[in-house]
Amino acid sequence: MTIRPPVIEITAAQKMFGSFQALSDINLSIEQGEIVTLLGPSGCGKTTLMRLIAGFEAVTAGTIRIDGKDCAGQPPERRPVNMVFQRYALFPHLDVFENVAFGLKVKGTPKAEIRERVQRMLHIVQLDSYANRYINELSGGQSQRVALARALVNGPKVLLLDEPLAALDLKIRQHMLVEMKRIHAETGATFVYVTHDQDEAMILSDRVVLMEKGRIVQIDRPETMYAAPKSLFAAKFLGETNLFEAAMAGDNALGMTAVTGSGLRFHSSIVPASELRGKVIVSIRPESFRFNRDNDTTQSATGQVEDVIFIGSRSFYTICLADGVRVRVQVQRSTRTSLPKPGEKTEIFWDSDNVVILPQS
Ligand code: ATP
Repeated sequence: MTIRPPVIEITAAQKMFGSFQALSDINLSIEQGEIVTLLGPSGCGKTTLMRLIAGFEAVTAGTIRIDGKDCAGQPPERRPVNMVFQRYALFPHLDVFENVAFGLKVKGTPKAEIRERVQRMLHIVQLDSYANRYINELSGGQSQRVALARALVNGPKVLLLDEPLAALDLKIRQHMLVEMKRIHAETGATFVYVTHDQDEAMILSDRVVLMEKGRIVQIDRPETMYAAPKSLFAAKFLGETNLFEAAMAGDNALGMTAVTGSGLRFHSSIVPASELRGKVIVSIRPESFRFNRDNDTTQSATGQVEDVIFIGSRSFYTICLADGVRVRVQVQRSTRTSLPKPGEKTEIFWDSDNVVILPQS
């Protein structure tokens, strides 16, 4: 059996803009057919990394291999890569068919083949009957699909998408995410997707590449990154969490324990990313707390219900613990368990596989 090289392999890449280091020590390997998102706050270097892969910028150090070949010095049009931009850069004076056909025409592809390929792509993006419409006669979501069709029509190995849904409103964005997954599955291309929206990253990705200040801080499947963040930054960036200042109080074969200043003990069975000593931060997601005891290993604390926010299927509780620390608890709507009311005393429970102990920074 031959092992295929990754479609993109970035090794020790750096990018300087003058004396400013935009990217440091980037190592990333992407398999054919994956959807990988580059996720991180504004200015962390996502677009720069994308532009390096596309060939619009050159690395200052390190290498980028696409499809097994070092692509140093190779211009964007010679790479098996296409890019979809936030503003789709469609031609307003051409209709949908001509927009999608543009790249194939420039390459001198035979007319019959252009027709067949464009029609197939318009079918995949579900715009079969829009071929003769002009771009200004389309909705935002439809324009986005034309941009996708145009970028995919020449069969690139890799499609780079830079915040492609940013200009759309929330409802259309959610619909387009589902569309994007379907289009990805039908074309088999590798998608590298830039976003600063953690929900988008979670919904779409096979793997999330989390970036901070020009560096990759964690690469994982979305579920893993959410359940076992390796840093305080990752815990806070991916969804809501409760954070407790604590100090390490020992470890054994079953996990580690940290204790807060007021004596609240947290036992974790999640293996930490690095060796932990002294002061630490304990992170527990709001949905990891319960109001009932499940088994013998469950840990608990006592507090008072300060506030309840009911939003249909879920409720958010603020529980004030004895030491004044506030905990946010999320519970699913249920008719079976009786839930505490504002002002009442209550116990909250959690399990060791929901406790993440992190270094302070
Ligand atoms: P956003 O989510 O806001 O688009 P980003 O994560 O994509 O942000 P980049 O656009 O990659 O961030 O920019 C990373 C850093 O590099 C920023 O500090 C930016 O100001 C800087 N930068 C990007 N392009 C250039 C350039 N051509 N010259 C100088 N600095 C640049």
